[in-house]
Amino acid sequence: MMPPNPKIDGTYSGTVLWMAVLAGKATAALSRLTRRGGGTTLPGDVARLIDPHVLRKLAADLKFGSIVITGTNGKTTTARLISWLLEGAGHRVVSNRSGANLIFGATAAALESASGSGRLRADWGVFEIDEASLPKAIDEIQPKAALVLNLFRDQLDRYGELESIAKKIEAALANLPASSTALLNADDPRVAEIGSTLGHPPLWFGLDDTTVAEHELPHAADARTCPRCGASLIFDAVYVGHDGVYRCPNGDFERPSPDITAQKIKLDGFDNIAMTVHSKKATADQRIALPLGGLYNAYNVLAAYTAGITLGLDPTYIAHRLRDFHAAFGRQERMEFRGRHLNLVLSKNPAGFNETLRTAVDLANGNNFLIALNDRKADGTDVSWIWDVDFERLQGKARALIPGGNRAHDLAVRFKYAGVSASPPETDPGRALDALVKATPEGETAHLLCTYTAMLDLRAELVRRGWAKPYWET
Ligand SMILES: [Zn+2]
Repeated sequence: MMPPNPKIDGTYSGTVLWMAVLAGKATAALSRLTRRGGGTTLPGDVARLIDPHVLRKLAADLKFGSIVITGTNGKTTTARLISWLLEGAGHRVVSNRSGANLIFGATAAALESASGSGRLRADWGVFEIDEASLPKAIDEIQPKAALVLNLFRDQLDRYGELESIAKKIEAALANLPASSTALLNADDPRVAEIGSTLGHPPLWFGLDDTTVAEHELPHAADARTCPRCGASLIFDAVYVGHDGVYRCPNGDFERPSPDITAQKIKLDGFDNIAMTVHSKKATADQRIALPLGGLYNAYNVLAAYTAGITLGLDPTYIAHRLRDFHAAFGRQERMEFRGRHLNLVLSKNPAGFNETLRTAVDLANGNNFLIALNDRKADGTDVSWIWDVDFERLQGKARALIPGGNRAHDLAVRFKYAGVSASPPETDPGRALDALVKATPEGETAHLLCTYTAMLDLRAELVRRGWAKPYWET
């Protein structure tokens, strides 16, 4: 690796960037060697320490630009979908993988693709960004598009109230370059509130199929009031959490009319989703079908489609390419284990949990469950949110129900109050898996709904027993 030629790069700034990139790359190599595995942000931390502008400089090298993706649920899947679309069209894509979605993760990803002289040789950047890091990310990356999926209550102990997050996102979007587009979920009242104040009109997307809607908000819904007058919003359709078709009874706030909608939605458990995407402006409707499950994924797919056309991809190409998509690691993963089909699904907050439960119970007719709750930093240390999850759905449906994770005992209490009978709590991942196999008849499917680190623990146990690949090999 040669230092930059001062006659070409010219500046002290170029040398600092080179040092930052080199140090970041060395850190990444070291962490791979010590098998800390994917998702580490350490190389980003190190590089930013040496050159705080490293991400700004690298992002400016991208041939066509970047998109940043934020929201409480669905970031990783949506980012994977967008990368999948761009890569299929022959583009070289830089993206932060494995859920390392803080600004340091984005920096680490850019470093990984940078050459030794500190230049980034790629066409597009696809970065999933924590809601709280969005202002910094937009300022440094100067993206072509910023996508906001939803704003649900999540890990309050880490980020504070939804209101302050909404304000941060609003300020960040107001700071987008004039030529950039905000892509916003019209069905989410908080996202709609943010978008209604933007000077530059956003592109709105939303679902348009009441046959897949519910008509009551779940317990966990946390945005029921009008941002203008405080009245309770009226929901004509509820799709996911508080996302749906809503209006204020006083007429001062309603769901923005979406530019791009998903219609004729067909759900097949965790296996498949199909929908017709209709665009107000575009030419023909596109029928899309792909191997992802759950209504929440309808939003992720629609968002990726909206992003794809915004970044210049052809609608027919997008529909074709999506057919071959496979779920991102750990968000949803299937494997065979001692003659049982395991379905691992990340469920990290009330809105997410209610949707995966609904999919597992109502759409996939699930009977066997391992539900695992951890309270480490990445899960949120306050687990009181489990009281906002509608575990009552399991009544009369769950034949096997194992409470797992280091807060298995809290889950057991919650299940008792939900009126569903469960096996004794198993805090050890290996014993929890054994209990699940014992309780699940051979040939049947067991659904493992887990918080983030609980899922990592279960997966590590499956890797140890040779039933799953380590995730740096997937
Ligand atoms: Zn109102």
